Amino acid sequence: MAFIDELKVHMRAGKGGDGVVRWLHQKGKEFAGPSGGNGGNGGDIYAIGSRDLNLLARYRNTKEFISESGGDGQKDSMYGRNGDDLLIALPVGSIITNLETGRMVELEKENQKTLLLNGGRGGLGNEHFKGSRNISPKESTTGLLGEEADFTIELRLIADFGLIGFPNAGKSSLLNALTNAKAKIGSYAFTTLEPNLGEFHGYVIADIPGLIEGASEGKGLGHKFLRHVERTRLLLHCISLENEDMEAAYKTVRSELQKHSPQLVQKKEIIILTKEDTVQGKTAANRLKEIKSLTGKEVHTVTILDDQSIKHLSEVLVKEVSSV
Ligand code: GDP
Ligand code: MG
Repeated sequence: MAFIDELKVHMRAGKGGDGVVRWLHQKGKEFAGPSGGNGGNGGDIYAIGSRDLNLLARYRNTKEFISESGGDGQKDSMYGRNGDDLLIALPVGSIITNLETGRMVELEKENQKTLLLNGGRGGLGNEHFKGSRNISPKESTTGLLGEEADFTIELRLIADFGLIGFPNAGKSSLLNALTNAKAKIGSYAFTTLEPNLGEFHGYVIADIPGLIEGASEGKGLGHKFLRHVERTRLLLHCISLENEDMEAAYKTVRSELQKHSPQLVQKKEIIILTKEDTVQGKTAANRLKEIKSLTGKEVHTVTILDDQSIKHLSEVLVKEVSSV
């Protein structure tokens, strides 16, 4: 599945319907008065935020979005019908730029509705021009054209979850288990790191390896990638239960994070003790209690070797992310 993250399209909002010249016909009186109705307004064009990250790919072959035109006015003072608005569903994180005006809007939330172009107003029928001195107006006006422009739509993925932790903590494995490789979002040009974004129930999980591993290797993250992850809503801090000193592991990662991204370090953090299958008996439960009282944070255990364990963690994470 190709993942499209940029699109250029033309948009044209509907034209207003024309006003018309019509006359009342009464018994014995041919032109009893003006009765031409106004035209309806052209439909507007809106963007609406969606959780479906693949929407841009669906519009790959779309050259133009057009909303409906208004209907012309009619006889007997009837107005033309208004054209329907066009709602274009776009993924949350889309930045929509009107290339005529330079106006830029970002879809930040699901169902956020943003006006992109106004439809043209309907024209006026001759009845509108009726006055005490002008009882038989023969004029009407045509509907106005709707606004139109070229647009670019750029997707800046907002990672909802960011995985942090030491190398070998099980971050990549957890990403794969939670997002199932099929749903993985392909590799990105903006990072030289491994593909490390996955789709999870419409949310995005980002593996943030470079913070610790990359730092020691002097790699550093591409700033475009960092831009995506800095807006992470929740940090998932993975600590392997194989660790002898989990407290030290936790603190080291926190202080590295502090150095690299003061922004990220302030995010809400959930601690995940990984590789539960490697310890016996009550060890995992005891460690969980220790880390919990040490950090005051929410702590969960998981093993990728057990589907139930992954399923349980998924449910917890979906609940958490919908509450931040
Ligand atoms: P990362 O460096 O944090 O991305 O860690 P990886 O996901 O690459 O995992 C490091 C190693 O731990 C790999 O060999 C994984 O197979 C192993 N691993 C990950 N999760 C588990 C787990 O739940 N149980 C066991 N037994 N091994 C795991
Ligand atoms: Mg990894």
